[in-house]
Amino acid sequence: MGKSYREELVGVFGYPVDENPTVVVAQTAFEDLQVPYRYLTVEVRPEDLKDAIRALPAWNMKGIHLTIPHKVEVLKYLDHVAEDAKIMGAVNTVYVKDGKLYGENTDGKGFIKSLVNADIALEGKKVFMLGAGGAARAIAVELANAGAKELIILNRSRARGEELKALLEEHTKLQVEYREWDHTMPIDEDTDILVNTTSIGLYPEVDAKPDIVFDTILPHMVVCDVIPNHPHTQLLKEAEKRNAKTIDGLGMLINQAVESIRMWTGKTADAEKMKNALAKEYGIADV
Ligand code: NDP
Repeated sequence: MGKSYREELVGVFGYPVDENPTVVVAQTAFEDLQVPYRYLTVEVRPEDLKDAIRALPAWNMKGIHLTIPHKVEVLKYLDHVAEDAKIMGAVNTVYVKDGKLYGENTDGKGFIKSLVNADIALEGKKVFMLGAGGAARAIAVELANAGAKELIILNRSRARGEELKALLEEHTKLQVEYREWDHTMPIDEDTDILVNTTSIGLYPEVDAKPDIVFDTILPHMVVCDVIPNHPHTQLLKEAEKRNAKTIDGLGMLINQAVESIRMWTGKTADAEKMKNALAKEYGIADV
């Protein structure tokens, strides 16, 4: 008697969304926190996004994650968007409060947290970033918020690279330089942090490597990758060979989910348990 069967609903909208593994880490967190939350993996077509988002309060849902292709489009349908998400032009987390829709972007915050957890300071640092897409935008804005000083953007498409440079110069204090990625590029010797934000190396292309001079990676550098599957990328292997410290993309994925779960539940989930659940799901023993 008195038992409640009702669940608080959250989840992810995407298209395609079948292979999104966030449900595994989210349900692990909810069980561990002992909260009656259910994470739904929902296929929402682009033309249905407006209806799907506007229905969140009617379903009394706590919020939702957005993934490809909805992160930019969703901004139109929200009541409030956080300042940094506005600069990024992308939202990956929505939470519902008093019937209103609030948008945030936790991707970059998740990346920064994975550096902080590894005791890597960002204040005054020079970052060399491969890529200028959605993940790059989120990471670059949060690097600026965390006090990084200088950012080199290496990107194949000039338009995208220059657009990101202009956006960062307008809204942040970062010193930014764009370089066109049209040949095998060296990494500047005074780089503190090298980060791959491109999709190079993402499953099933696990043998792909970014077109850089690997011998310009030096032992004082921290080399990071956003690729979550498989997390032990060729770039990280090359960096390990040159005695650089490495940070994989699982930390970012888990930490962005921890941030979103805090927005939905008010509680802080155990990142280590979530990471273990995901590693088990991927059949990865060496993380
Ligand atoms: P986008 O499509 O927005 O951007 C892709 C970027 O990769 C662009 O800069 C593109 O360059 C570059 N790129 C792709 N292929 C190549 C190539 N062969 N050579 C050089 N550059 C290339 O994607 P996202 O930013 O949304 O996602 C990028 C990656 O980040 C994905 O693999 C995703 O899984 C991962 N990610 C991981 C997260 C995590 O939590 N770990 C969170 C979010 C994303 P160009 O502009 O020239 O096309």
